[in-house]
Amino acid sequence: MTTEIPILQRCSEYQDRIAIIDEQGKYTYATLLQDAQQVTHHLLSANRSLQEQPICFLVPPQYTYVQTQWGIWLSGGIAVPLAVSHPLAELEYVLEDTGTSFLIYHPIFEEKALALAEKFSIQLINILELPKVDINIALPEVQSGQGAMMVYTSGTTGKPKGVVTTHDNITAHIKALSEAWHWQKEDRIVNILPLHHVHGIVNVVASALWNGATCFMLSKFDLEKIWQLVEEDQLSVFMAVPTIYAKMIADYKTLLDTKKTQVQQSFRKMRLMVSGSAALPVSVLQEWEGISGHVLLERYGMTEIGMALSNSYTEKRIPGHVGKPLPFVQTRVVDADYKDVSTGTSGELLVKGPSVFSEYWQKPEATKEAFTKDGWFKTGDVVQENENGIYKILGRQSVDIIKTGGYKVSALEIEEVLREHSEVTECAVVGLPSDEWGQEIAAAMVLNDPQFDLELLKDWLKQRLAPYKKPVHWKMLDMLPKNAMGKVVKPEIVKLFL
Ligand code: ATP
Ligand code: MG
Repeated sequence: MTTEIPILQRCSEYQDRIAIIDEQGKYTYATLLQDAQQVTHHLLSANRSLQEQPICFLVPPQYTYVQTQWGIWLSGGIAVPLAVSHPLAELEYVLEDTGTSFLIYHPIFEEKALALAEKFSIQLINILELPKVDINIALPEVQSGQGAMMVYTSGTTGKPKGVVTTHDNITAHIKALSEAWHWQKEDRIVNILPLHHVHGIVNVVASALWNGATCFMLSKFDLEKIWQLVEEDQLSVFMAVPTIYAKMIADYKTLLDTKKTQVQQSFRKMRLMVSGSAALPVSVLQEWEGISGHVLLERYGMTEIGMALSNSYTEKRIPGHVGKPLPFVQTRVVDADYKDVSTGTSGELLVKGPSVFSEYWQKPEATKEAFTKDGWFKTGDVVQENENGIYKILGRQSVDIIKTGGYKVSALEIEEVLREHSEVTECAVVGLPSDEWGQEIAAAMVLNDPQFDLELLKDWLKQRLAPYKKPVHWKMLDMLPKNAMGKVVKPEIVKLFL
């Protein structure tokens, strides 16, 4: 096999090392590359040129997922992973948007696949029943600068957008993390994240494989299996989103004392634990440190840019901060006129670098809008850089920066304070439109005791928040609306107040 795809070139050298372990078995790098070519040959037998064509796949986060992704890459196509947990309507949105002519599916999603095939003119390919094809079909030439993957944004602030990244973008993303986080071939990680977002796809799976490490793949989030892997000292690296850490902390408290001790000891033998995709509450960071002995390494990234900021691997990590730019990443912090602000002043984060995406799929206007004239990507996130070059994320310009009575208030800062109250399990702060104030601050909360007297909480807040930062609208909920990445969907919360 010859290919210009950097990750596949590297992995072809790892041969008999174990690449993936899932519920069905263990797979070497050599097997993975061979099985991926089965997918490629089948795709190409149906259609001779797939260069930069989007090919959707609905496959659980197991070995067959990577086999499919690599098979698409070798065909020259753009791999579009569908969210296996999404309802049909959302899958239809993506299928329509991509205009794909193929859907590769795993039989456990047959019903969804058949329903999609009724609506769209697509060829269905069952990944477990690849018909025998002539394996002598030559592999096409694939350039590393061509489109490799299309991942839809999380849809936290609006309709998800298809973000096209090239093999070069993905390679730069992986190389930055490999260098910054000291990935090595002896590493062992478990993927517990959905594989339709870059966190799981690149930070966990592709980074592990690039480095010749071993990736356990769980087909669904299963706390018992995770504790088992930890207890058996199977893992050296762990990555998750803040809501998963919160779930693990809650579950840890229910374990038997002997198991707790075992888990604690095993965690201490691991070398790295990372959090990202959403702001990590300081309370979660502290509780996790109490259990694992690790100060979580928080990092910041986006579908469009890969990873951009990260806490240091070796130096002290500051809770509530996301560290410095990763290797190859350039950053600026600017005001509304795109002029650089002085250190310590908040502003929008702009990013440039080799991992920044090439385009929003078939949205030239949106792509153009996303960059400044001189090519800086506008993240839409408001940050603050301190005198040591360390960044803090204040939130999204569109939903987290609340403009009220002439002040700009960070919703994340208020949430952090609310969470310090022992009654508050979860909370989300939003701005509501107001003729008088521009916006008014509203808080949605999940409380331990739903009968708890809100006036006590308001009194408690008086000591901790300036009057203009205090929420004036309140709502108690059983749970907060979240998406597949465990991110709170704030536009939904705003609707609850209107
Ligand atoms: P959409 O663009 O569809 O609204 P989304 O922005 O949530 O969804 P992603 O690309 O998956 O889609 O997420 C990137 C965003 O996640 C960033 O712009 C930022 O707001 C947030 N984020 C990522 N890491 C962190 C972090 N460590 N702290 C705070 N926010 C983070
Ligand atoms: Mg976004």
